[in-house]
Amino acid sequence: MHLNNDKEIVKIEQSRARLSELLKQKYPERKPVCYLHSYGCQQNVSDGEKLKGMLSEAGYDFCDTAENADLIILNTCAVRENAEDKIYGIIGEYKHLKNNNPELIIGICGCMAQESKTAERIKSTYKQVELVFGTFAYKQLFDMLYEVISNRRLVINQSEDDGNIIEGLSAVRTSSFSASVSVMYGCNNFCSYCIVPYVRGRERSRTPDAVYDEVSGLIKSGYKEIMLLGQNVNSYSYGFPQLLRKLNSIDGDFIIRFMSSHPKDASHELIDAIVECEKVAKCLHLPVQCGCNRILKEMNRRYTVEDYLEIVSYARSRITDFSFSTDIIVGFPGETYDEFCQTKELIKNVGYDNIFSFVYSKRSGTKAALMQDNISEKQKGLWLRELLMEQRETSQKLLSRFVGKTVRVLIDSDVSGKEGYVCGKNSEGIIVELMGSSELIGSFAQVKVIKAMNWALLGEIVI
Ligand code: SF4
Repeated sequence: MHLNNDKEIVKIEQSRARLSELLKQKYPERKPVCYLHSYGCQQNVSDGEKLKGMLSEAGYDFCDTAENADLIILNTCAVRENAEDKIYGIIGEYKHLKNNNPELIIGICGCMAQESKTAERIKSTYKQVELVFGTFAYKQLFDMLYEVISNRRLVINQSEDDGNIIEGLSAVRTSSFSASVSVMYGCNNFCSYCIVPYVRGRERSRTPDAVYDEVSGLIKSGYKEIMLLGQNVNSYSYGFPQLLRKLNSIDGDFIIRFMSSHPKDASHELIDAIVECEKVAKCLHLPVQCGCNRILKEMNRRYTVEDYLEIVSYARSRITDFSFSTDIIVGFPGETYDEFCQTKELIKNVGYDNIFSFVYSKRSGTKAALMQDNISEKQKGLWLRELLMEQRETSQKLLSRFVGKTVRVLIDSDVSGKEGYVCGKNSEGIIVELMGSSELIGSFAQVKVIKAMNWALLGEIVI
């Protein structure tokens, strides 16, 4: 359901005006300053940009360190338990800031703030925090801040998913050439190791027109890369392949990427759209998680190794070098060494350009946290190393297919520790380093690849 959305926007605008007025009275000489930091996935970073957009409209400026702020907001991630511990550590350190400046407001939001145990712990232990709001409360940001500033009391908002998506809120974007655009939110899958469905709610998709309008606006303002986001972006309810084709029709010189895709919804139609849309990057990040059907079932992933390989094979039948990358969990509860070896076999069979592998880490609140886990951390670490060695050999061989070819790269940053070098990604999403100045950042370059390293390519600009 979409509450699209005039009444809701009017209400939000009234709340914004009320907060702006209060801020002007409280800070008559200057604008109040906010330090907002987002942790975790790109979806969370994108939410942080939207929160910044709202705060900017209310009258806040932004700073890069917590020390100078009137308002601190930590936009948290709940995927790993140690990420949560880190947040509590940081909040603990902020106590002295609050002691020095009692007017300071400290808030936490995001996935961790949606969990009821977080509210309990904040209430009992972290008195310096005055604002806790979960992932469904963003539209009430102005009212929550108004309440904290006028009554100086702890505000906790962990409202449940109402299924609505509010359109028309602006964002403060960190990049001037690469923009993330959320197309759907939430997840219906309940993979047994994952907390996301409990803190981000059920899947809901923006309309194709809303996404089209946002992307068109970004392209008109000069953006060169659009990253479409969703917990399972290809489960987009109006048809993800159709959305790619619609966005591909927008005039302009830009590249469309997307993440993350769920293998259960990776169809031939999706591959066809990627292959046939000239603006869509020729790669697919398809998290397989493991190469053993028994473990996939325990993970509740809803596909088999055979289903997965069929999609890979179809993509390669359309483009021989179609690029795949993936996520892998090593050492899921009950996994045996033989089963782990099936994952090694799978990565050899697929030939990934890149893998992101993690040792399984227990997440309380999930089904997997209740499973018997007999593998020691040390063992899991050894398996992970074995997997990475396998991948290193595979990827260097695979990446050498680009040597001698000229590829188009969107330059996105300096190479840290390598003065005079910049880097970016080619259409397959592979990092390409080249000699060049920072002025190139934000532009496309034709680059001849001269060397394949095991994680990136080295090239030179073709004039
Ligand atoms: S698909 Fe699985 S891993 Fe991905 S967000 Fe949903 S539950 Fe988590």
